[in-house]
Amino acid sequence: MPQFPIPPGQNPGTIVTLSREDSKHLVRVLRASVGERIGLFDGACRFEGEIVVLSPVGTEVRLLKSVPIKPVQGEVVLCQSLLKGEKMEWVIQKAVELGASAVISFKSERSIPTSFKQEKIGRWQKIADEALKQSGRVNPMRVHWEEDFSSLVRKTAIGSKIIFSEKGKTLPVDSHKRNYSLFVGPEGGFSDQEISLAKEEGCEVVSLGSRTLRAETASLVSLTLVQHELGNI
Ligand code: SAH
Repeated sequence: MPQFPIPPGQNPGTIVTLSREDSKHLVRVLRASVGERIGLFDGACRFEGEIVVLSPVGTEVRLLKSVPIKPVQGEVVLCQSLLKGEKMEWVIQKAVELGASAVISFKSERSIPTSFKQEKIGRWQKIADEALKQSGRVNPMRVHWEEDFSSLVRKTAIGSKIIFSEKGKTLPVDSHKRNYSLFVGPEGGFSDQEISLAKEEGCEVVSLGSRTLRAETASLVSLTLVQHELGNI
């Protein structure tokens, strides 16, 4: 069951009206019934609520228990080299679930797809927004495209920059660093030039073990490890 957003500043006991879109989804897709318990969030707290009026244009829910949402520590941006269609979509969905603040996809020398259509961003953002609802996460994850790897490494990336390669060292644990940009290569890996350029721009080269992971596994593992380090998992 997805968790539903409600306006900020709510308290248990109040009755809130869900958006038209969410109301319709509850009635038509989830086939909810009056009296059913659902999850909601207002930005600061998660609530358990009971459906009191079921309507596709404005379902009303009485808020019951609330639990404060733990604030997220630091920002983790996943810079994922463009992968083949479904893999990219999978990575975007998992990045939302794992609390990445953004996914920036970029063209790498060895990316298999040779062209990129801007319309993809809209589709990816939709996947990210759906994953947001399903996971009950409160802050949306943005998806961007960057054509040029070097300008991404030089200008766009935030915080401590890590590029993942089997030839790197083990993940540094430094609790003072709060923001990270994580670079994961395409199916064919990063070229030596890309690794040297990243190093020149201050990226640390980090290994995820002696086995070669698929790009999508590397994204998932790197996000998990860094989020754990930051206390977000
Ligand atoms: N055939 C390629 C493998 C690419 S795997 C090669 O030999 O280079 C795709 C991406 O996942 C890599 O560019 C890297 O960023 C990441 N990756 C895979 N396994 C890794 C590992 N053991 N350590 C660090 N990064 C890894």
